[in-house]
Amino acid sequence: MFAYRLKLFSLFGFQVWVDASWLLIATLIAWTLAVAVFPAVVQGLDAVTYWWMAIAGTIGLLFSIVFHETAHSLVARRYGIEIRGITLFVFGGVAEMPGEPGSARAEFLMALAGPVSSLALSAALLASSTAIEAVGGPRTITGVVGYLGGLNLILGLFNLVPAFPLDGGRMLRAALWAWWQDVARATRVAAAAGNGFGLLLIALGVFEVLRGDFIGGMWQFLIGMFLRAAASAGYRQTMAQRLLADVSVAQVMTPDPIAVPPDVSVESFVEEYLYRFHHREFPVARGGVPLGRIGTRQVAALDRDLWAGTAVSAVALGCTPEDIIAPDAGALQAFSQMAGSGRAHLFVVSGGRLVGIVSQHDLMGLLSVRLELAGERGSGPKRRPLSGMRAPV
Ligand SMILES: [Zn+2]
Repeated sequence: MFAYRLKLFSLFGFQVWVDASWLLIATLIAWTLAVAVFPAVVQGLDAVTYWWMAIAGTIGLLFSIVFHETAHSLVARRYGIEIRGITLFVFGGVAEMPGEPGSARAEFLMALAGPVSSLALSAALLASSTAIEAVGGPRTITGVVGYLGGLNLILGLFNLVPAFPLDGGRMLRAALWAWWQDVARATRVAAAAGNGFGLLLIALGVFEVLRGDFIGGMWQFLIGMFLRAAASAGYRQTMAQRLLADVSVAQVMTPDPIAVPPDVSVESFVEEYLYRFHHREFPVARGGVPLGRIGTRQVAALDRDLWAGTAVSAVALGCTPEDIIAPDAGALQAFSQMAGSGRAHLFVVSGGRLVGIVSQHDLMGLLSVRLELAGERGSGPKRRPLSGMRAPV
């Protein structure tokens, strides 16, 4: 989702980014405004004027989303939750938080701030539009300002729908969380509501298209698809954060890993390590001190005739801080370190010595076992939470 993004500006100390996907959506929005919305709202203008209004409307839409996300971020900051920045992507914005809100109250107020700010902005814009019209201002201006007022009204109301991960769904989750004292169960119910609302929008979208409203139906369909995907991704992410919050690297790592001495030949490395243990990469270490890493790729890049006469140290890659993690670091930190560097495993180093290896495979395995124990795929009617799933209030 955040593969490519542009830095737009900074607001209250938050960086605002725009994801490449937003540019595509913005084009689609501008087109919708120019050919369908503004010609219906303000009649009798020429096509070029509608396009200028559409561009102004699209920029206004961008600012409306930033306004909404900034409101979330300001409340988050009040509760001591660090916000790295705001990224505008497909259907709105995302305030990037490295962690989750620590309490149901913080989450409820953080979620509420968005729709409240949108509704307040909507009231201000609609009042301005009426005032400009009253003094006989240009119809192009009243058209765009009035449209943005209506848009913020929809943004505020739509986000209040109790369907996770919409703000209303987050508020629902926070309320259930406070009531049940079980954040996993609360998230599951709120995400199910998000999935259901997504399905409803898809069905309505198909119905609208069949009735002949292609543009309106297409938007409902797309938002429904997006909401369903976001509901399950948000659920998985929350569960991963909850289920792995109390797990340290030491608990998931493979201790005392097989390490290759730096002075063995590449030939013996292939015979005695690669063929025997079938790992794709090994740490290179002398006396327990990690020196680098070597795998099938480095061997394949070396001419077969040179295998016997080349030492492993000559072709091994060096160890960078990205390859190393401490045993007392959290499993979630290992996850994000791997995601950031693209590594499939990390060397666990304590006091300068290699004590283990932690792989993405180990982490995913642990996560799926914990998910099953938490009742994610369980069929029993009684879903008891694990003690580790309790929210740190
Ligand atoms: Zn929001």
